[in-house]
Amino acid sequence: MTNIVVLIKQVPDTWSERKLTDGDFTLDREAADAVLDEINERAVEEALLIKEANGGEVTVLSAGPERATEAIRKALSMGADKAVHLQDDALHGSDAIQTGWALAAAIGQIEGAELIIAGNEATDGRTGAVPAIIAEYLGIPQLTHLRKLTLDGDTITGERETDEGTFSLEASLPAIVSVTEKINEPRFPSFKGIMAAKKKEVQVLSLADIGVDPETVGVANAGTTVLASTPKPPRTAGEKVDNENSDGGQKIASYLIGQKII
Ligand SMILES: Cc1cc2nc3c(=O)[nH]c(=O)nc-3n(C[C@H](O)[C@H](O)[C@H](O)COP(=O)(O)OP(=O)(O)OC[C@H]3O[C@@H](n4cnc5c(N)ncnc54)[C@H](O)[C@@H]3O)c2cc1C
Repeated sequence: MTNIVVLIKQVPDTWSERKLTDGDFTLDREAADAVLDEINERAVEEALLIKEANGGEVTVLSAGPERATEAIRKALSMGADKAVHLQDDALHGSDAIQTGWALAAAIGQIEGAELIIAGNEATDGRTGAVPAIIAEYLGIPQLTHLRKLTLDGDTITGERETDEGTFSLEASLPAIVSVTEKINEPRFPSFKGIMAAKKKEVQVLSLADIGVDPETVGVANAGTTVLASTPKPPRTAGEKVDNENSDGGQKIASYLIGQKII
């Protein structure tokens, strides 16, 4: 029996326009539709598969504004048992290290957490660093970028795929893993799951509850700061190439050479 904590993040839908706020250049979360990050759906799926095979309990943990409740409910409707929502205004604009610090402290409040599963990289921040930062703070092994994951008793093994090749990793629990999009295909929540999720427990914790000093997190205390940003220029109409004189290929090649693409 393994108690699993899945780290989930609500992110702006990749299909909606993403904007930064004028004042501190943090992401304007209200300006975009928000969804449970797809990589985290896969992390939840993996936790559910392990639970179905070995027993135990799946708790999802998210640090985010009040609106993140929607993402939490989605994970609960997939089948997670309960949720912890770290919600505190002082967390606004936290960088990856601060986010990892706060999440590590929150994990410490979840009884019997043995296996922590995260996505390899969030679609918005994309630092791909939070799971490794948590491993450092908690002093536990990290098995990151896994495309395959197996649990046998207290031993966790995984396959990490990189440009340099595939690596086999092994560690004893407690440990943290991060998964890639190749790990599985996440299930859709069933109607029964959606109804059951409404009744499941969501524990809301503040920084005070997890013993984190607000002066160590948030945009004002971050180790990195965004000083300026420039919006992407609007798309211009493309150049049309005709093939009337059977010279279309030549024209495309000349265009690509002119753009220094080839
Ligand atoms: C516009 C913009 C500007 C930014 N500028 C900076 C900057 O200047 N400096 C800087 O250091 N960071 C910056 N960030 C990163 C931002 O602070 C991140 O959201 C935060 O640090 C977490 O990092 P990440 O999303 O890149 O996580 P990743 O490491 O890419 O996420 C991997 C996994 O960790 C887990 N995870 C991550 N965040 C959470 C969470 N909140 N709750 C639960 N699980 C989570 C999820 O499982 C996720 O799949 C910026 C982000 C945005 C969108």
